[in-house]
Amino acid sequence: MIENVHKNHPNGGGTPLFKQISVVVRPKDVIAIQGPSGQGKSTLLRVLAALDTIQSGRISLLGRPVDSWGPCEWRKRVCYVPQQPAMLPKTVEDNLALVSKLHQRKFDQPLAKRLMDEVGLGDLSWSQNPAELSGGQKQRVQLVRSLLLGSDILLLDEATSALDAQSKQAVESMLMRWKEERGTALVWVTHEQEQAERVANRFWYLENGDLSETVKKDELTSFSLDQGGVE
Ligand code: ADP
Repeated sequence: MIENVHKNHPNGGGTPLFKQISVVVRPKDVIAIQGPSGQGKSTLLRVLAALDTIQSGRISLLGRPVDSWGPCEWRKRVCYVPQQPAMLPKTVEDNLALVSKLHQRKFDQPLAKRLMDEVGLGDLSWSQNPAELSGGQKQRVQLVRSLLLGSDILLLDEATSALDAQSKQAVESMLMRWKEERGTALVWVTHEQEQAERVANRFWYLENGDLSETVKKDELTSFSLDQGGVE
């Protein structure tokens, strides 16, 4: 999906943030991105979402370069979920229905209800003002809103950072079910080693501009046989 991507550090000093990195994302992959703070993990998600520029390299999906999709179509396929949820006025329901409005689709209310239940927000009133929600509630509403887009790839930036252990587990289980049902790939920045080991089958480590990859032991055979994927 990304080949030889080079990006300079945004501080303008000309030092590389990414040095010619290349990776492929496959359907149903759960990839944990780890590495020290400030090494470009969030930036890599934004690059994948076509929300940030690169100096050189190729980003593509299903064999087509990002430019040929157009920004709207790309973001339908590759959805970025930021760490800080951006809630829109006026109600929780407005937020859940946002994606369908933007893309002129019917709002799938039963699916939204199911997902809200699964992330532990089954009792939350949809008429509530999102400004009144806790950080953890906002994070989960944002996640459900993003899932309703039905993208091929979900880019999760510390998606459970504001959640307690129980809600975190609910979100992890829901995401695992979702990717099995839909074939969605999850690319997940997490600073929690235990979470990474619970959810991921592949691990990217970013440091000093290089991206190294390890895979779970039981993935090694299929990984070496299958270099295909979303790209
Ligand atoms: P990580 O997610 O690994 O902590 P980031 O991708 O957030 O790293 O940031 C990578 C580097 O880019 C950091 O040094 C950060 O300070 C810098 N950076 C990120 N966003 C901006 C920005 N908008 N303006 C200037 N520097 C930025």
